[in-house]
Amino acid sequence: MTTVQAPRSELAAAETFDSLNPATDEVVGTHPVHTAADVEQAVARAREAAAWWDSLGYAGRAERLRRWKGVLARRLAQLCEVVHTETGKPRGDAQLEAVLAIEHIAWAGKHAGKVLGRQRRSPGLLLSNQAATVEYQPLGVVGVIGPWNYPVYTPMGSISYALAAGNAVVFKPSEYSPGVGKWLVDAFQEVVPEHPVLQLVTGFGPTGAALTGAGVDKIAFTGSTATGKKIMASAAETLTPVVIEAGGKDPLLVDADADLDAAAEATVWGAFSNAGQTCVGVERVYVHERVHDEFVAKVVELSGQVRGGSDEGAQYGPMTMRSQLDVIRGHIADALARGGRALTGGPEAVGDRCVQPTVLVDVPEDSEAVREETFGPTVTIAMVADMDEAVEKANNSRYGLASTVFAKRRGMELARRLRTGQTAINAPLSFAGIASLPFGGVGDSGFGRIHGPEGLREFARPKAIARQRFSALLALTTFARTE
Ligand code: NAD
Repeated sequence: MTTVQAPRSELAAAETFDSLNPATDEVVGTHPVHTAADVEQAVARAREAAAWWDSLGYAGRAERLRRWKGVLARRLAQLCEVVHTETGKPRGDAQLEAVLAIEHIAWAGKHAGKVLGRQRRSPGLLLSNQAATVEYQPLGVVGVIGPWNYPVYTPMGSISYALAAGNAVVFKPSEYSPGVGKWLVDAFQEVVPEHPVLQLVTGFGPTGAALTGAGVDKIAFTGSTATGKKIMASAAETLTPVVIEAGGKDPLLVDADADLDAAAEATVWGAFSNAGQTCVGVERVYVHERVHDEFVAKVVELSGQVRGGSDEGAQYGPMTMRSQLDVIRGHIADALARGGRALTGGPEAVGDRCVQPTVLVDVPEDSEAVREETFGPTVTIAMVADMDEAVEKANNSRYGLASTVFAKRRGMELARRLRTGQTAINAPLSFAGIASLPFGGVGDSGFGRIHGPEGLREFARPKAIARQRFSALLALTTFARTE
């Protein structure tokens, strides 16, 4: 049996691969590289399991989901240790995402019946002799393909909703976090031992591609825009529906009347937490000229209190994906070569594993650091003459995932004008994790919505049924009488 080390896509034909601790390069687990045949088998098994799972009804499924949630809550420390060792993120951050995931499981189980249950609709005048209803039926088998940056919370935003809606799920975690995926699926199988309602397939891109082509009823993908496009192209062959949650280049806007301390804190938290490896991380800031200098000074001061490292005192960990170091280095170099300045960090901030907080100013709008997702602890800050310019620049991006506005007077107006799936006003964008609100992107950030009632409906098929209540003749008389 050949064993390879992630990530090397050309080695996808090997039989197993190792996952590594990004802080030490130690092997923390060995996992199968599932072939297309393995994936097809998993989907066939899932299809049988789906019928049984559907037959449990909303209450039966909610009960199993509650038990799954209970396992996660009881073994939280163990789960966080797996997340910590596979991604390098501090245990506290691992705990935060695990708690968010637990909330999603609970919310989806509790609300599925109410959101997806039978609803009466008006049959209209012409069909007034009929009773019209809509009910949401499960799709069947959903393939969930996940990233590594929030390996518990992110896939759970699809998995728990798909399960609550009555689907079976085949889950392909990132090749950087297969151990976390295995932990979650093992925990589920403990509380649902009867049938393979949630299965794991592991491997690299080709395993994900095999899942896309395996005849599933929907693919829920979270990851980069480039992979999202490939998945959509291949899903088009079989008209497999997809929901795509992709990258971002999220802006934060600061108006002249904003609470600058709060705005600076949100910037530093949004830009540097999880080493900037957050789809809704703050990567660009546009500040009203009247408060620009004061705001920048506050951000620089706060940035000095933040440090990346593998020790307990560090606020964030090493980069999970070593290749990201080159992307970050490239964006900083491009910004500096085009007249930008690093007020903290800079090229020397990019180490072997960790990147220190980097605040860039005077960076041209067409540079890589402003246009492309950096996915590292860097942020650009630009001065604008007014908030119209801020909105125009914020919206001038192929991405449209999330945004943040700090403004006392015009917060709501500015939020509505931003072309993103979600916007926070006068607070850090932490609500992306909230179970009751829809989450998703615009443009290259993807489409479709996960979480909340919209997320449940994403994994169900609306079925309209109209049933005749009394004879057409009677209906015509009724119709005539109403005329
Ligand atoms: P990625 O696109 O490299 O990989 C994501 C998953 O897709 C992995 O499981 C990978 O094995 C699989 N994959 C790769 N090629 C495939 C193919 N051809 N067909 C099917 N599957 C394939 O992304 P990543 O590096 O794991 O994650 C980081 C990206 O995810 C960032 O761009 C980030 O912004 C984005 N992200 C988005 C959200 C969101 O909700 N919008 C959340 C988290 C992360």
